[in-house]
Amino acid sequence: MTYVARKERYDTMKYNYCGNSGLKISAISLGLWHNFGDANSHENSRTMIRRAFDLGITHFDLANNYGPPPGSAEVNFGRILRDDFKGYRDEIVISTKAGYRMWPGPYGDFASKKYLVASIDQSLKRMGLDYVDIFYHHRPDEMTPLEETMGALDGIVRQGKALYIGLSNYKPDQAKKAFAILTALGTPCLIHQPRYSMLDRWIEDGLLTLLEDAGVGCIAFSPLGKGMLTNRYLYGVPEDSRAASQSTFLKSEDITENLILKVAMLNKIAEQRKQSMAQLALAWVLRNKQMTSVLIGASKVSQIDDCVGALQRLDFTVEELDAIDRILENH
Ligand code: NDP
Repeated sequence: MTYVARKERYDTMKYNYCGNSGLKISAISLGLWHNFGDANSHENSRTMIRRAFDLGITHFDLANNYGPPPGSAEVNFGRILRDDFKGYRDEIVISTKAGYRMWPGPYGDFASKKYLVASIDQSLKRMGLDYVDIFYHHRPDEMTPLEETMGALDGIVRQGKALYIGLSNYKPDQAKKAFAILTALGTPCLIHQPRYSMLDRWIEDGLLTLLEDAGVGCIAFSPLGKGMLTNRYLYGVPEDSRAASQSTFLKSEDITENLILKVAMLNKIAEQRKQSMAQLALAWVLRNKQMTSVLIGASKVSQIDDCVGALQRLDFTVEELDAIDRILENH
């Protein structure tokens, strides 16, 4: 059946300006790192994208290597766009990235102009797009001069293949230099994509201040700690979970007693706030004023519904924040 987006989709979602730019991004964004590859059910992927859009999520995040196999998330997303979203391209912010290994040999990885230009062309072809909204350099590379990488990104914008540039996983000193080069070239960096959650607070040590000073937006990836900051593992490791799949990035061994103890205590605070654990974790990330959006992953439509529900209660009392800090520090 032809998909028609819900009329009320913009009524309850929150949209934040991305840094000093004029681009607004939904406070919740959906990432396609997991669950959108050829190994997954296409119908489930399609239903999740439709539901996300129906709830007001306008931003979908990809990368050249998402799958498995690498590239298949972009191909599958392109198919969903063609099948369901023909009239909606101008309502959607699509990002992709290059920086990790994508094809064999010296030009399929890292940060050279040769790699980045080829990669954006491949991504556009896989998704069937003329342009992406945001093109990211996925990870910093000590071996390639920053001038070359930033020059390549600027060129990609000038060629109309991306509207904006983002950087991911750059530490504050690297980000600061890169921002200066991009600004001098006339393509200021739009957004930084770091990992940030209750389990990993490194960006509080300098990066957030830098982003505020530079007027660059921030979108936190893995805000649910890949699922650890939800009720998913409170009573064991479910068979259909990421940890059970023994992925390179989350294994059942990572679900330690100590982690469960911590999450159970946090979950008590969530219950007092009438939130799910996932909603508490997302609201906590969004408490930072520089945070443009939280970039969630999902394996089921019900998880997207639950995550969007976080927006109903974003405020925290000082006592709640202190109690959360104590749990995170002491366990
Ligand atoms: P999350 O921390 O949001 O973890 C997502 C997982 O949490 C889901 O797959 C699901 O686990 C579980 N989950 C989600 N919602 C709920 C809920 N409401 N209740 C219970 N469980 C829930 O993020 P990801 O690690 O998936 O990363 C999100 C996105 O960030 C990626 O898709 C990608 O776009 C981006 N990213 C970027 C990186 C970079 O280097 N720039 C690196 C990593 C991610 P389950 O599958 O077990 O059901």
